[in-house]
Amino acid sequence: MQDSVMKAWWDSSHMAGGNTAYIEEMYEAYLEDPQSILENWKVIFDALPKVDGVEVESNHTQIKADFKHMASLGPAARFTPGAAATQGDVQSDERQVKVLQLINAYRFRGHQHANLDPLSLWIQPGVRDLELKHHNLSESDFGAMFNLGSYAVNADKMGLGDLFKSLNRTYCGSIGSEYMHITDTEQKRWLQQRIESVEAKPVIDRDEKINILKGLIAADGMEKYLGAKFTGAKRFSLEGGDALVPMLKGLITQAGAFGTKEVVIGMAHRGRLNILVNVLGKNPSVLFDEFAGKHDDTLGAGDVKYHAGFSSDFATPGGNVHLALAFNPSHLEIVNPVVMGSVRARLQRRHCEDGSAVLPITIHGDAAIAGQGVVQETFNMSQTRGFKVGGTVRIVINNQVGFTTSNIEDARSTQYCTDIAKMVQAPIFHVNADDPEAVMFVTKLALDYRNKFKRDVVIDLVCYRRHGHNEADEPSATQPLMYKKIKKHPVARQIYADQLIAEGTIEKHEVDKLMAEYRAALDHGACVVQEWRPMTEHSVDWSPYIGHDWDVEYDGSLTVEKMKELGNALINYPEKHRLQSRVNKLYLDRKAMVDGEKMLDWGMAENLAYATILADKTNIRITGQDSGRGTFFHRHAVLYNQEDGSAYLPLQNISADQGRIDIYDSVLSEEAVMAFEYGFATAEPSYLTIWEAQFGDFANGAQVVFDQFLSSGEAKWGRLCGLTMLLPHGYEGQGPEHSSARLERWLQMCADHNWQVCVPSTPAQVYNMLRRQAVRPMRRPLIVMSPKSLLRHPLAVSSIEELAAGVFYNVIDEVDELDPQHVKRVVMCSGKVYYDLLDQRRKNEKNDVAIVRLEQLYPFPQEEFKAIMAKYEHVTDWVWCQEEPQNQGAWYCSQHHIWQSIPPGSNLTYAGRKASASPAVGYVSVHNQQQKALVEDALTIN
Ligand code: AMP
Repeated sequence: MQDSVMKAWWDSSHMAGGNTAYIEEMYEAYLEDPQSILENWKVIFDALPKVDGVEVESNHTQIKADFKHMASLGPAARFTPGAAATQGDVQSDERQVKVLQLINAYRFRGHQHANLDPLSLWIQPGVRDLELKHHNLSESDFGAMFNLGSYAVNADKMGLGDLFKSLNRTYCGSIGSEYMHITDTEQKRWLQQRIESVEAKPVIDRDEKINILKGLIAADGMEKYLGAKFTGAKRFSLEGGDALVPMLKGLITQAGAFGTKEVVIGMAHRGRLNILVNVLGKNPSVLFDEFAGKHDDTLGAGDVKYHAGFSSDFATPGGNVHLALAFNPSHLEIVNPVVMGSVRARLQRRHCEDGSAVLPITIHGDAAIAGQGVVQETFNMSQTRGFKVGGTVRIVINNQVGFTTSNIEDARSTQYCTDIAKMVQAPIFHVNADDPEAVMFVTKLALDYRNKFKRDVVIDLVCYRRHGHNEADEPSATQPLMYKKIKKHPVARQIYADQLIAEGTIEKHEVDKLMAEYRAALDHGACVVQEWRPMTEHSVDWSPYIGHDWDVEYDGSLTVEKMKELGNALINYPEKHRLQSRVNKLYLDRKAMVDGEKMLDWGMAENLAYATILADKTNIRITGQDSGRGTFFHRHAVLYNQEDGSAYLPLQNISADQGRIDIYDSVLSEEAVMAFEYGFATAEPSYLTIWEAQFGDFANGAQVVFDQFLSSGEAKWGRLCGLTMLLPHGYEGQGPEHSSARLERWLQMCADHNWQVCVPSTPAQVYNMLRRQAVRPMRRPLIVMSPKSLLRHPLAVSSIEELAAGVFYNVIDEVDELDPQHVKRVVMCSGKVYYDLLDQRRKNEKNDVAIVRLEQLYPFPQEEFKAIMAKYEHVTDWVWCQEEPQNQGAWYCSQHHIWQSIPPGSNLTYAGRKASASPAVGYVSVHNQQQKALVEDALTIN
């Protein structure tokens, strides 16, 4: 406080002396609302200094009430509740205010003086606010008693000397707590209560200590064993971050006690083998076989062992918890949204909206969490309607080196690698991994926070990496000083065992016995996790979907009456729900379609497909940037009341016992959202899960997801996934970015029937394509080049009977009545260009060119194609026509299939744009010329 202001106030105030409690109350009111107190008090408080420009106090009446409640719950608190202190002997001068400022300085910045780095290499700059003299206090004040304000130890006053020690123990020990960036007072108070009441060091009983030690013995023992048995083989050792094993086991155990039924874990390869064996209970003998090169031939292409997922059950005091470690590629961090999607699916299956039944745990690297944008995307998604999962516990294995980058100035521009978490005001606990009791404390705290507030929380496990990036690497080449230190640094197991021996918790021979037992268990090769249980707790059965290919038989037909009934339900909405005029017109049109007065358009057919799927009690989830309305204003599955903005989904109200449908306009992200939907669809076969791109090229932002998960997840990991991707595609003169969904890329990755690539050209086709995807007992990704202008094309309409028939045609023959014998050329095409060709041919009044549409480009419908081609056996002039430039689209990727189906000796030629570096031209006039030319080229027989 400015001295002159303070003195003037103090001299004139009748509130000095023992009335600091009253002043503090006033101060609290001021913090809540500066206008709520008298102006002269406001002037005083306005003049109080800030720490780093930030107000450093918060209301705290509640925190004391919270504390008393907590104290009544159990023995965790170090101080037992006592009678309220009298005020008479408390310091009554301005130093009281300074002491309150000191407390808050520790809350804000104590973490910068905490002892976080096991190697003591990471030096943070000194913080003046944590020095007594910065607050005009000194050691000579140590004997003086002060009120503690909101400092949540169980005392109202304390000598400054004791308080200073307490603050240092609480905020500058092995834990650096960052939570003062949280604006929600309740959360902040709750955290203060939990941290300060036990000075960040709870009492841990002997059993728990032994359990922690066993975890460290397992972590270290496993790596040593692998290092000796498979010297030089890559294992991405956990060594240095050994605390992760007891930490995860503690986290799962506590989650189970809280009532959690499933835990889904995502992690990169560092430490993965260790977690597989020591937490999830994979049999060591299986892992050793993998090291020895043995593998299960039935598992397709397979993957390296440090990408493997695993499932098991784990016994906890609250019952068995199902564990699922997600499979993931080398691309660090991308597994996080996959885990979140998987958790969301499991939560919905368990009808748990608040996240308590399923816990996501994501394990990050320090360089990656700061470096990779998908992390930011997942934080942004974490509280949104469509993507929230009740909070994720995020653990950073902070080994202070990202491959070779260890200098902070090369790795990031933030103080901590975890600063990104502040965007959602997540609390962050930095903790020294060589103090496993501190690790366990923050682990429990983090989980309790997640469960209470349903928000993300971060634990920054500050550790080191004993070896190189992998075991074949030589880290001292690039980190000489760090590795000199690491070579001499004792392992966590030894440090903790010595601590327990010194405090009399265990004797050395007992430690040796535990180590020998663990080694013997590895030799034996059976599961080493006591809590492991065979899987019974997972809630989904994939067996109906296993072993079916895309052509498996199914019946998708419905009666026209049923279709009309559903159509009527689809156009029904509450009378008071006033529609926008264009939407109203669209719904009137839809009524005419149901009444048989109009042919069905794209939007109606698509909505009807969803209605029929829901009527079958299959669930639907649709996300994308404009998925409620549809980018091109065609879907309008969500209706907004023009009076009050409320939303109404007719699809949610088609019958009493229908499936569930959720349609969310997503956050403006592709990578994390597509990965989330992949995670959802791989965890939930009973849903039709759809991701829609605003424009097809937007999918580019998610390339890692379709390269490394969607296209190859089944081949690598045996994980089925029925995700449907609607990617608007079509050349309409909108320039290079929004014309192409990059069909060629999807086709290039086609093999082993890994996914389907479809280009439906009529409302009946989109209806039956979607129904097929839901009804058929097969779950494989469906990539759809969906239309834009076709949504309103007068020729792109269908009858309700065509829909009701329930057949998706992979190939569609010529529709006009041409005599096949007169046909001299067959033009094959996909998508919108068909209508340009048809229109022109009709204008030309020529009947010697047949037009055949390929509606499914992959898996290539060889038999159906051949059957249609049989009609044109005499034709030798075959043309593939496409809108995309020659190096793009289907021409190069699909022509080998066509060659196999056309009559021997035929000619197959190309009609389309010439090869181009850019997907499309930017000028509409050039586009129009090109389009005209390619259509003429296709139809003109030389
Ligand atoms: P999880 O709940 O993910 O641990 O999965 C439990 C079991 O269900 C796995 O061990 C698999 O046998 C099976 N499973 C889970 N997801 C899939 C999937 N996407 N495709 C096929 N089988 C799956």
